[in-house]
Amino acid sequence: MWQPELEMLSREPLERLVLERMRATLARVLAQPTWTRRLPGVRPEDIVRVEDWRKLPFLTKEELRDAYPYGLACAGEAGYQRIHMSSGTTGNPILNPYTAADVAQWGEVMARCYVAAGVGPRDVIQITPSFGLFTGGFGFHYGAERLGAMVIPTGAGRTTLQLKLMRDLKATVVTAIATYPLRLLEAARDESFDLASLSLRVGIFGSEMWSDELRVRIERELRIRTHDIIGMTETGGPGLGIDCAARGGIHVWEDHYHVEIVDPGTGAVVADGAEGELVVSTLTREGLPLVRYRTHDLTRIVSRARCDCGRTALRLDRLRGRTDDMVIYKGVNFYPRQIETALLRHAGVSHEYQIVLDAEGGGERMTIDVETEPGCDPSIAARIRRELGDMLALSPEVRLRAHGEIERPQGKAVRVVDRRPRR
Ligand SMILES: [Zn+2]
Repeated sequence: MWQPELEMLSREPLERLVLERMRATLARVLAQPTWTRRLPGVRPEDIVRVEDWRKLPFLTKEELRDAYPYGLACAGEAGYQRIHMSSGTTGNPILNPYTAADVAQWGEVMARCYVAAGVGPRDVIQITPSFGLFTGGFGFHYGAERLGAMVIPTGAGRTTLQLKLMRDLKATVVTAIATYPLRLLEAARDESFDLASLSLRVGIFGSEMWSDELRVRIERELRIRTHDIIGMTETGGPGLGIDCAARGGIHVWEDHYHVEIVDPGTGAVVADGAEGELVVSTLTREGLPLVRYRTHDLTRIVSRARCDCGRTALRLDRLRGRTDDMVIYKGVNFYPRQIETALLRHAGVSHEYQIVLDAEGGGERMTIDVETEPGCDPSIAARIRRELGDMLALSPEVRLRAHGEIERPQGKAVRVVDRRPRR
């Protein structure tokens, strides 16, 4: 462990620390007029127990957009050393300004994540997320620097060069957005690159939903052990948590982040074990502290008990999609990962797929385009259709496509193309 005294802290002292940091965070934000308007009448001393946090209102993505650039920030413009940003499709981007202490905090939680993934100072870490406004590249870099590991800061793209450097510099760890390993595998295949010539041992992937089935494939084909890392621009980038070798859920660094799971409809906190929307509060961030931020990510609390690895930090299930990813088709609700799970159960079916929704006459039509390996049994289309009917009450047309027929985006995978008119 990177900080065993904190990572193994038992529940009672941990909760005391959380409570203290909740009050400090409230004191910090309430020094800003924009926050006192948001939280009228709230005082730090009102938080007597951790549960009292639930009385505070949620912070939404829209509020963060409207606050662009520094509306909800808390350090004064002279206090910032860095910005990162996530751009949405509409309106202002969400800007996260970091103080020097925030950059240091990021390095600390990322170092913990690396160590939880079994990575140490003798590793060679290839960082494939971009270095720029996106948080991925720098986050992995700061953590690696803390460890004293060797870094290959390739950033995004140039997959052929990535493979060459990975092999020639004997990278043992690859970090990436979760579908990038698929690009690596594809490039290796297209160029007859021998994956056995790599020294890779560990992959740390995040920033996109990736099903357990996809994980199995990536691990098998790249011959690595993977770890699922979470975190987003708003929370200060990757490093909110990661799954350890015991693979019993994603540890959240509770001395830095307080997480709750709420019913996406009512906003009420749900019981441990029940699925709902992840709400994150930051406990140590200075530039843009979050108080009950609604992430739209769906997950559940797996356990608050001590893990087999010895850590006490609570464990979340892997993210199962986003509240805004939910597709409603002919009155049936489903998430793209449910389709992915059904597809990847079949040998010969590729991880490249797209769900296309069209308007047709007065109704609507759903098509699943999926690439298959050469020689794949064509009757598989009917079998997938039947399974989706049984599992999800969906009856899409399933079209088997040849390798390379589905367009590859530069960044995150595009799983749903909805051409239906907006209602
Ligand atoms: Zn663990």
